[in-house]
Amino acid sequence: MSVQRETEVSIHDRDLAKQFNYDGDDLGVMYSPEGSFFRVWAPTAWKAEVIIYSDWTKKAEHSYSMKQDSGGTFTCYIKQDLLHRYYTYRVWIGEECNEAVDPYAVAVGVNGDVGAIVDLDETNPVGWSRLQSDSSISPVDAVIYELHVRDASYDTKSGMTPRGKYIALSQPGTKGPHGIKTGLEHITALGVTHVQLLPIFDYATESVDEQRLDEPHYNWGYDPKNYNVPEGSYATDPYCPVSRIKEIKQLIHKLHTRGIRVIMDVVYNHVFDVNNGNFNKLVPNYYFRTLPDGSLSNGSHCGNECASEMPMMSKFIVDSVVYWAKEYHMDGFRFDLMGLLDVATMNEIRRRLDEIDPSIIMIGEGWNMPTVLPEDKRASQQNSHVLHRIGQFNDIFRDGIKGSTFMHTSKGFVNGGTGLEDTIKCGIIGGIKYNEQLRGFAFEPEQTVNYVECHDNLTLWDKLIASHKNASEEDYRSMHRLASAIIMTSQGIPFLHAGQEFMRTKQGEENSYNSSAELNALDWERCAYFGQDVAYMQSLISLRKSHPAFRLRSAEQIRKHLFFEAAPTKCVAYTLRDHAGGDWDRHLYVLYNANRNHVHVHLPHLGYGAWKVRYGSELIHSLHDGGMEVSGVGMVVLALQ
Ligand code: CA
Repeated sequence: MSVQRETEVSIHDRDLAKQFNYDGDDLGVMYSPEGSFFRVWAPTAWKAEVIIYSDWTKKAEHSYSMKQDSGGTFTCYIKQDLLHRYYTYRVWIGEECNEAVDPYAVAVGVNGDVGAIVDLDETNPVGWSRLQSDSSISPVDAVIYELHVRDASYDTKSGMTPRGKYIALSQPGTKGPHGIKTGLEHITALGVTHVQLLPIFDYATESVDEQRLDEPHYNWGYDPKNYNVPEGSYATDPYCPVSRIKEIKQLIHKLHTRGIRVIMDVVYNHVFDVNNGNFNKLVPNYYFRTLPDGSLSNGSHCGNECASEMPMMSKFIVDSVVYWAKEYHMDGFRFDLMGLLDVATMNEIRRRLDEIDPSIIMIGEGWNMPTVLPEDKRASQQNSHVLHRIGQFNDIFRDGIKGSTFMHTSKGFVNGGTGLEDTIKCGIIGGIKYNEQLRGFAFEPEQTVNYVECHDNLTLWDKLIASHKNASEEDYRSMHRLASAIIMTSQGIPFLHAGQEFMRTKQGEENSYNSSAELNALDWERCAYFGQDVAYMQSLISLRKSHPAFRLRSAEQIRKHLFFEAAPTKCVAYTLRDHAGGDWDRHLYVLYNANRNHVHVHLPHLGYGAWKVRYGSELIHSLHDGGMEVSGVGMVVLALQ
């Protein structure tokens, strides 16, 4: 077929499909032992069938014709017990006949090439229930820890088995080099409140073939294939459709029993493969954004963009998020390239999640991407005024702390950069409008996610080395600690990358999405070596948790209680006054010092009593009524009761 012809078909198909919407909640397969009901949206097809297979190799098929139903759907009821059978849909569109996996499939065979029929009730761990919703919790109370399932246990010294799998991370009591805690125990001891898992939906990539897991393989997983099914390569048996479902539920359940909530990294902005993907096979040229010439819009830089503004794509995304929240008890979602999704879809997700549990967190990458979606419809930083209770990563703060992410030699506040005090202040206030000079993209602190490293780009440790040559290990450690201290005391939602607490390195690799598992794995020997830094991070998390002043709920409270104080250059000082947020300390004084040499700071006179040290005593030379002498890069927190 010529390109010209494809373009003509595409416009025709989309116009036809747009005339049909289905708003029911029964797309996919409804299983019961008596029979299974199938419904698929395929408005441009003139004929459709359910194909039932007895095994994943798709031999021995039985086809059942579907009947046209409301809203452009086809349905079929098969009155027999189809448990553990496999299925696909076959649709006839014009002269073409396509076979596709159900986008609403909740289980699949190996590599996700065929849907599977399972009884989800049989996949639940003993005691499976949602964590209690707590209306007193705000997203700013969260401490998020971003982790890749395979990274956690791939290191042979992790003491966790089976290496790289969901269940290794659910294993209690594991120990590593020198007897340190690893995996679940390490995370529990650290004190984080939320573990954010890099993609755990079924992804497709040449580098991770679920049938060749005995060969070296690795991927972050930002290649969606089956949105409503867990990834198979982290399961002990990717051939068994319930294995992956049971095992990730076991992991979630185990984290929940430790009081740790789970955030899922979701990638609704693009799919791995449009032409061979299920959406386009069922409804060609509907689900993806196109340019005027008919070619795919590519704001994701991954080849395509999901057209979240199209009603049935929007519905799919909303249904998918709600499914994970309900079936897997997810406590939060992190939206990859959220700036490519539309505002209305994001707000509909917020509304639907609130019906389940308002404490479910939503955060996302609100970058402004080169898409055909109009600017005012993008779920990006500049539209945060219409994205209430959705957090967005603060890249300006990130770069202010450590230097430009994309220019390796660029320095930030902690590693020798100058003139960055106001950038740091804009981060401290949670990116809200504090006054005319100090303001960010946010309107409330829960709209800002503060971080200095994540899976993308150089780790903080590698960035410090790239930007600041010939410093001692001790110097790098102090810069690194200060960066983490700034994140953990600033207003907004703090976010850590797994291994940040032990100076994670990827040996200078800035995009390790398909690097070796060895390079990406958490290095538990390094965790033991940097044990003091792990303890430092633990104490930072504990400091944040014990002081509500660092977790102010509203922009109004921040403007009322947070005051910037005079400080020398390469220092930022502020107070949190008058029992901010109900803090048991009357006033807190916070100093971020990026000077290696002695500095003297004046302390504000805020009433009777003497300032007491709450944090960073090792930096303090002298402390008296009017001031303090400190030396070395780091953070000091004082309190006046
Ligand atoms: Ca897969």
